[in-house]
Amino acid sequence: MPVLEARHLRKAYGSTLAVDDVSLTLEEGQIVAVLGPNGAGKTTTVEMIAGLRQADAGTVRVLGLDPQADPHAVREQLGMQLQAARLPGRITVAEAVQLYASFYTDPADPAELLELLGLTGKVDTKFKDLSGGQQQRLSIALALVGRPKIAILDELTTGLDPHARREVWQLIESVRGSGVSILLVTHFMEEAERLADRVVIVDEGRVVAQGSPTELTARAEGDYAFQMQFAEQLPAELVESLRRLPEVTDLTIGDHGCTVTGLPMALPAVVGRLGAADRVPTDIHTMTRSLEDVFVQLTSEVPVP
Ligand code: ADP
Repeated sequence: MPVLEARHLRKAYGSTLAVDDVSLTLEEGQIVAVLGPNGAGKTTTVEMIAGLRQADAGTVRVLGLDPQADPHAVREQLGMQLQAARLPGRITVAEAVQLYASFYTDPADPAELLELLGLTGKVDTKFKDLSGGQQQRLSIALALVGRPKIAILDELTTGLDPHARREVWQLIESVRGSGVSILLVTHFMEEAERLADRVVIVDEGRVVAQGSPTELTARAEGDYAFQMQFAEQLPAELVESLRRLPEVTDLTIGDHGCTVTGLPMALPAVVGRLGAADRVPTDIHTMTRSLEDVFVQLTSEVPVP
């Protein structure tokens, strides 16, 4: 049984249909990323899942509980990362963790949690004096202080520099390692690709694709492609014979060497023909499709690099 299941969620704000039809599941111990452009309906979806917003239609089950019918029981099991900016600037790290711990019947040990999040040296630092990465780590600590089975983390690395982002990613992996299932909202493809077991791509309030990052990238349209470099120019007749191979759709010679597109079997076919002609590429580079290709093909907006 999944730890979290949302079915056919729908939510309109006046005439704006923020979420049209979103269904998703989170299995125990997994990280599922909800990926989509700004305005796709991601935050509204997770707010309905956490019971912070009432859905117009659809059902949510968190460990079998309905967040609307049983908000207190759900709050004990589900940690939602609060937007860091909502904390008062003068509260210290220790005070914030103690305050949030007081909301729960069986909270985590604040010292252990701060150790896990690398904030031990910052307990007496005021929120406003923390770096962006430290503020994010504190907001993750606050989401975890109730020892939830599930954590929802919304745009947790937005605004962080690449170094701080990688630190937060490592942290998320160790949180998952400690047994927490995670629903991660993001508009960064790289974040989804790096962390998620499954990715749910949402656009204009609807799920447009879902699967593991590998499954999704395999689904991207377009030919398989690779580039080769040679120490010497290839004879024209050899180039023509490569172009005529049934696996090859196109072969161009340019500044970056020879680019071949076609079926996946084009690579062994081309290398075999080259070998028979005593030509060895000095370099072969396959051009793999990325989650970004899938995202661009399926959603209405350009991705954030
Ligand atoms: P995302 O998290 O993917 O950026 P949101 O769920 O925040 O998307 O927003 C989806 C749509 O709903 C957007 O068009 C947004 O402007 C609108 N929206 C979000 N919150 C509200 C609100 N409280 N009142 C009115 N419209 C809202």
